[in-house]
Amino acid sequence: MLFQPPVPEAYLRLPAAELHERIAAAKAELGARLTILGHHYQRDDVIRYADFTGDSLKLAQLSMSRPEADFIVFCGVHFMAEGADILARPGQQVLLPDLGAGCSMADMAGIEDVEECWDALRSLCPSSTLVPMTYVNSAASLKALVGHNDGCCCTSGNADSVIGWALNRAAGDHDGCRDKLVFFPDQHLGRNTCYKLGVPLDQMVIWDPTQELGGNSPEALRRARVVLWKGHCSVHTRMTTEHVRQVRAEYPGVKVIVHPECPFDTVQAADLAGSTEFIIKHIKEAEPGTIWAVGTEIHLVQRLARQHPEQTIVSLDDCRCQCATMFRISPQHLAWMLEELVAGRVHNRITVDQETAHWARKSLDRMLELSPMPTAAPAPRRQQELVPGA
Ligand code: SF4
Repeated sequence: MLFQPPVPEAYLRLPAAELHERIAAAKAELGARLTILGHHYQRDDVIRYADFTGDSLKLAQLSMSRPEADFIVFCGVHFMAEGADILARPGQQVLLPDLGAGCSMADMAGIEDVEECWDALRSLCPSSTLVPMTYVNSAASLKALVGHNDGCCCTSGNADSVIGWALNRAAGDHDGCRDKLVFFPDQHLGRNTCYKLGVPLDQMVIWDPTQELGGNSPEALRRARVVLWKGHCSVHTRMTTEHVRQVRAEYPGVKVIVHPECPFDTVQAADLAGSTEFIIKHIKEAEPGTIWAVGTEIHLVQRLARQHPEQTIVSLDDCRCQCATMFRISPQHLAWMLEELVAGRVHNRITVDQETAHWARKSLDRMLELSPMPTAAPAPRRQQELVPGA
């Protein structure tokens, strides 16, 4: 985790209404020089200031629609800010209001461990086609390794088509060693999607970076069609089949909709599984009176419940788990960052070096060729005009 110096004490003492006025005033003062991006999992008292809301890649792309902005303030986590920096035009500065806002899943795939895995698989299967793929929830260095080795990124929204492309490329057998998809860093998204696309579970192995050969025999690795990195999201892995059982007992007729970062058994027990955008779309388009148990981060679930009073929307996880690292970004951090920008002082800039950015961009560009992202509208004005303290 990067070190975040404490926000000046004075910001911590500000009443909510004054904090709101000062953020709004600094934002107005910076005008078109500033774009604020807010991830779907962001807390309400921060996302209300976002010019755009969405998932990580959509936000990075939307920031490109504001080339006049000198500063892109990313209210998300570190890998998202890196992604925005990779796609930013020269001169644009991407800032993260709290440097401690990382992603535990991205941190589970350190580049040295990944390189070790990649080299071991290469020497084990020298004639096979190995297609590396990383979920966008990963560090720029991992995206670069994937880009450098002819691989591709994916999001939870396009995983079906992009993983399908990789499986078609890696469908042969050479010298007794299968071609492979090597998927980083979320084993659950990889497993759920590959299974949906017809790969049996016994053709997938887990690579545990703490063990020799990832905890596999050479023979098991040669036979495997998919190698899944042992990473997970601490929020989505909380959702279990027991939660599904409980919610079905409590709410007869409930539809269970979960994110594909959830464990395999949970996804199998649910009615629907898909990305945050998929979840939002399904709930928005559902018949009034529908009952939903939603298996994703609590801020998004609560926001959906408020936006759709015509439906009953509950969290699948009764502990209502939040993304603790994203929650570090507070209105106090945002006020401090914006007022410092007004004063001409830039803090918490996230940069990706040119070489890494070049190769990481290759992996992102390949994904976009395979699965163009839909364009999306800015956040509705009302998000910026909520009453103080609401
Ligand atoms: S919800 Fe999970 S994957 Fe998403 S940023 Fe938080 S820890 Fe990372």
